[in-house]
Amino acid sequence: MPVAFFGHGTPLNALRDNEHTRAWARFGTELPPPRAILVVSAHWYVAGTKLTAGASPRTVHDFGAWAPPELFAVDYGAPGSDALVERVRALVAPFPVEADTSWGFDHGAWSVLVHAFPQACVPVVQLSIDRRQPPAFHYALGARLAPLRDEGILVIGSGNVVHNLELFRGEAGEESWPARFERCVRDWIIACDHDALIDYHRQGSDARLAIPTPDHYLPLLYVVAQQRDDDPVRVITEGAHGAMSMLSVALG
Ligand code: ZN
Repeated sequence: MPVAFFGHGTPLNALRDNEHTRAWARFGTELPPPRAILVVSAHWYVAGTKLTAGASPRTVHDFGAWAPPELFAVDYGAPGSDALVERVRALVAPFPVEADTSWGFDHGAWSVLVHAFPQACVPVVQLSIDRRQPPAFHYALGARLAPLRDEGILVIGSGNVVHNLELFRGEAGEESWPARFERCVRDWIIACDHDALIDYHRQGSDARLAIPTPDHYLPLLYVVAQQRDDDPVRVITEGAHGAMSMLSVALG
């Protein structure tokens, strides 16, 4: 099973038919059907490492009142998987991971899944990002999940490698810093330069502008931590829109 990172962009992509959402849909149809999906979403950025437990986690509408009613109406009804929760806990033991029933599938997960897996029949579990931990912690935790690839489990990271809402406006030209940094990250992934990806805070001013807070970047580290030497790297889609990058890649 490959491992994949999705630049989810605005939550409105859940409702949109555009080049990015069509590429996500293609990814879902070209894949051998996964037994289950584990999603690391930028939007579950909390104090602790947790997994969504239970047979039917709820659909979380984690955005403001600006969103149209159609977005609040999205119900991604995939089942949960306590078997996958237990498998992940076993893989990372003795590191403690809490089984959580308060959260559910947030828009970081479902805005992509409604396109890639519209039937919502594959069980989904979300893994939180412990906001207290440094990048190397998240990379190491991601590496512990690598056996899932051989068990038919699709691991997805969902964030944005460029995500600066304060500077978000208009289209970004080819030579703008968002486009430059997106290309940089893509090239580091292709070159398997994981040190550069982990040490993003040492990568100069483009990186500082692209990653003002780590939440949308860190899901990528869970994905590249599972990259194997012979994995082909497939760019599912890319493109910087304002200060947001849609770069989405599959490894393997
Ligand atoms: Zn987001």
